[in-house]
Amino acid sequence: MMATLALERRRSAESPDEELARLVRRQLELLGEDVDREGLLKTPERVAKSLAWLTQGATMNVHDVIGDAVFAESHENMVMVRDIELYSLCEHHMLPFFGKAHVAYIPNGRIVGLSKVARVVEVFARRLQVQERLTEQVAEAIEEVLQPQGVGVVIEAVHLCMMMRGVEKQNSRTITSALRGKFRDCPMTRNEFLSLAHGVGSSRSVAV
Ligand code: ZN
Repeated sequence: MMATLALERRRSAESPDEELARLVRRQLELLGEDVDREGLLKTPERVAKSLAWLTQGATMNVHDVIGDAVFAESHENMVMVRDIELYSLCEHHMLPFFGKAHVAYIPNGRIVGLSKVARVVEVFARRLQVQERLTEQVAEAIEEVLQPQGVGVVIEAVHLCMMMRGVEKQNSRTITSALRGKFRDCPMTRNEFLSLAHGVGSSRSVAV
């Protein structure tokens, strides 16, 4: 009883990072590891820090990254940022999935700094995710901030949970897309976007 109380008291004084590190240490024990061997001594703290960093997007939203980088502009053609590198964690296995995002929109009086588009992808990637939701969230965020005539997002990624375990499909890529406004309703816009997204630089080449 006394021991339990002492333990409770120690735990309540722990920071979330310390608590996470303690749980990682326990996880290692349950996996049959000798947690006191040299290589593992600092692993619990490293894993805790790394997980906190990889999921930091969960407490952020699109306004945190875009800030005031929205500008009035009468340009009405498609703006596209291709090949945005992305790294995320699948929420089913907490294993990485990674690949590229292609994001395009047609302005409706407002544009955003191009580097901010990549930051939007990052914010939604740095949390426990599924690729389908990540794709929708990026499209929704661009729509919310710019209220463009349309927005299109294509993400192609490989999932370590598929490659390292289970079906071990090592060459399969998952491709998801979210199309809104003109990208959904206007076949020409949609085709132009999809050709650009799947075209130059990807392993498939599509004649545009
Ligand atoms: Zn998974």
